[in-house]
Amino acid sequence: MATKKIEVVIPPREPHFVGDGFRVHNFIPSAYRLDMQRMSPFIMLDYNSKFYFPPTDTPRGVGVHPHRGFETVTIAYKGKVAHHDSSGGGGVIGEGDVQWMTAASGVLHKEYHEENFSKQGGDFQMVQLWINLPAKDKMSKPKYQAIQNKSINRFHLENKNGEIEVISGEYKGIKGAASTFTPVNMLNAKMNKGAKTDFNFPANYNTALLVIEGSILVNEAGQAPTDHFVLFENQGENFTVEALENAVVLILSAEPIHEPIAAQGPFVMNTKAEIIQAINDFNLGKFGFLED
Ligand code: MN
Repeated sequence: MATKKIEVVIPPREPHFVGDGFRVHNFIPSAYRLDMQRMSPFIMLDYNSKFYFPPTDTPRGVGVHPHRGFETVTIAYKGKVAHHDSSGGGGVIGEGDVQWMTAASGVLHKEYHEENFSKQGGDFQMVQLWINLPAKDKMSKPKYQAIQNKSINRFHLENKNGEIEVISGEYKGIKGAASTFTPVNMLNAKMNKGAKTDFNFPANYNTALLVIEGSILVNEAGQAPTDHFVLFENQGENFTVEALENAVVLILSAEPIHEPIAAQGPFVMNTKAEIIQAINDFNLGKFGFLED
């Protein structure tokens, strides 16, 4: 089996704030050549690298905003996020948990640091991904998958050297917790120093990893430190990851959706006309109502 080679190792860009609660480095679609097609169906990746927020009585975050045409996936590595939406749903994403929200035809929501976390302050570290939906599913019914860490299946590395959490897709026969519309592999590799394992995805899948903690060696050649993003070429199937120190690595590999993308702010559709429709629907209150 051929090796999937590294195309580039991308350092984090200067951070910016989303609302006042998310201090993020954007990788997709603004770093290197990571436009919305290059890593399709991963069309957005904001990474809040580990950052200390001091205590406050007013939770920080981002106020009411819509989404249409895709899914948002929030992975909480440190800290807690509370969310509320226009269908009356809400919940807390705790450390290690994943929220997989299918915005699809339209959701109005807000995302804030959880109240007690805000009061105590602390380290906050989070990934938010947007995953595109194929045209046929863009206007399907919104839904949530609130995935608690304990419900995520794991592959255990030998010699108790770590584990691979399978958020979605599959790893060495272990099935992911989340259901997806198109094939999406999303894994959290938690590896002790010296641990080594291999990954195997089809050559055409768009594949990358983000080093959340520690540093790693990829294919016995390419070093990637904390907060760096490793993009793979679209050829070969197999790559190895070795932890040079205790490491946490988010691994992404998915079948590209070969459809046109029209994107504006929180709306990602296939055509400009559908974007105008989304803006009109939002202005007409068709996304529902949610208090700020
Ligand atoms: Mn949102």
